[in-house]
Amino acid sequence: MTNSRATSSVRVRFAPSPTGYLHVGGARTAIFNWLYARSVGGKFLVRIEDTDPQRSRGELAQVILDGLKWLGLESDEPIVYQSDRTQRLLDVAHELVKRGAAYYDFTTLEELDAMRAASQAKGEPSFRFKANLKKVREGAQEKLARGDAYAIRFSASSEGIAWDDLVHGNVRYSGDELEDFVLVRSDGSPTYHLSVVCDDHDMNITHVLRGDDHVSNTPKQIALYRAMNWDVPQFGHVPLILGPDKKRLSKRTGATSVGEFQAKGFLPQALFNFLTLLGWSPGKGDREVFTRDQLVEAFTTAGIQAKSAVFDEQKLEWMNGEHLRMMSDEDALKYLLAYSTDSAHQEAVLRTVWPLVKSRVRLPRDFFNDHPYLFADPESFDEKGIEKHLSDPAIRARLRDYSASLNNVSFMPETLEAHLRGLCEQWQIKAGQLIHPVRLALTGKTVSPGLFELMEALGRDAVRRRLNRLLDGPTA
Ligand code: GLU
Repeated sequence: MTNSRATSSVRVRFAPSPTGYLHVGGARTAIFNWLYARSVGGKFLVRIEDTDPQRSRGELAQVILDGLKWLGLESDEPIVYQSDRTQRLLDVAHELVKRGAAYYDFTTLEELDAMRAASQAKGEPSFRFKANLKKVREGAQEKLARGDAYAIRFSASSEGIAWDDLVHGNVRYSGDELEDFVLVRSDGSPTYHLSVVCDDHDMNITHVLRGDDHVSNTPKQIALYRAMNWDVPQFGHVPLILGPDKKRLSKRTGATSVGEFQAKGFLPQALFNFLTLLGWSPGKGDREVFTRDQLVEAFTTAGIQAKSAVFDEQKLEWMNGEHLRMMSDEDALKYLLAYSTDSAHQEAVLRTVWPLVKSRVRLPRDFFNDHPYLFADPESFDEKGIEKHLSDPAIRARLRDYSASLNNVSFMPETLEAHLRGLCEQWQIKAGQLIHPVRLALTGKTVSPGLFELMEALGRDAVRRRLNRLLDGPTA
C-alpha cells in the first residue's frame, strides 16, 4: 500500500465490545487503524459493538471512549452503536435466507447437545454444525407457521476460503474447517458475525485491522460478504500482546487497561509510542522514540510484525521519561503536579529542583517518592553515611561553624560553592569532608542531585534547620 498523504478512500474502524475496559491490546489495534488512516489520508471510525445485552455495559462503552480520547484516537464520524441497527441486521439475515445462503434452523438445545455428544463419541476434534440444506428446508414452512422457535444459520460452503492477509500473507481454511454458523439467535438477536459484516459494509470500511484472535472468524465473514455480493474489505490480523510470562497479556502479570496506565502517571504520547512499537517496526535503524506525527509519517501496514510482542513495563517507564523530557519544562511540571495531592509539593520548589532531577525522572511517582527531602526534612539519615562522614568530632564542630556561617552568604549555587570551598581551605580540610555530611543533613542520603543547587532550592532556613537536626538529633 502506498503512503500518500492525499485524501484517499481508505476507511478503517475500531470496533470494541463494551464488555470490559479498554485493554492495551485493543488500544494498540485502535492505534494501528488510526495511524493507517492518518498516513494515507483516510478516515478512522469507531463503532461500539453492544449487541450482546447480557455482557455489554453502557458505562464501559464510555470508559472505552474516554481511553481512546485520552490517547487522541477520536472517530472522524459520529460513533456507530451496533444496538441501533438491529432491524437492518435482521433484514439482511432474512435476505440471506431468500438468497438460499442461510436457513431457518429449528434444532432444539437438546438436539444440539445430542449432536455434540455424538461427535465427541466419534472422536472428532471439534463439533461443527453442518446441515443438509435439503433436509432442513423440509417442513420449515410448517414449523414457521406453527410458531416454532428458530435460529437463522448461514450455510457454509464445502469449498474452502482464502484471503491475502495484510500481516500474514495467504491464509486458507478448507471446507472441512467451516461450519454453518448462527446469524440470528432463537431469541431474535443478531450475532457478531452478521453484525460485523453488515456494519462494515454499511460504513464503507475498506480495511479491517484487528487482533489475531479474529482470524478464524474471517472465513465466515468473507462468506457472508460474498453471499450478499458485497465488496470484501482487506483483512489484516495483528498478533496478540504477550505478558512477561509469554502468555497472552492478562491481569496476572500486571496492569492491562489503558485507565490503569493513565492512573499510574504515564503520558498518553508515551503509551501511544510504546504500543505502536509492540508489533510494528519502522524497518530501519533502532530508533524507538517517536512523536505521533513522526509515527504517522513512518507508518505502513507492511511494518506490522507477524510475531507476538512482549509487553515490558520497564521499557514503557523508560519511554515515558523520554517523552517527559521532550515536553517544555512548564508542561512537564504541570503534568507532574497533576499527579500529586500533597500540599507540600509546592510548585515553587518543583520549579527550582526540576532541572536537577529532570534527567532521571520516568514517572511522577519517581519524582515525588525518590526525592522526599525536596518537600520535607529527612526523617532519618543513612547510617553508613553517618559513620563514614561524621564520626570525627572535629568535623562535627566544623559543620556547626559552617551552619552558623550561612547567615551571611547569598543563597546562589556559585556563591555557596565558593563559600564552602573557601572555608575548607581555611580549615585545611578537603571539600568532600564538608560536602558529604552537608548532603546527608539535607537529604538523609549519600547521593543527591547537585548540592549547591539543592541548597538554593531549599533556602537558608531549611538548610540550617536540617544541619542542626543532624548534629543535635531531630528533637532539637
Ligand atoms: N467487537 C470485536 C472485539 O471487541 C471486534 C470485532 C472486529 O474487529 O471485527 O473483539
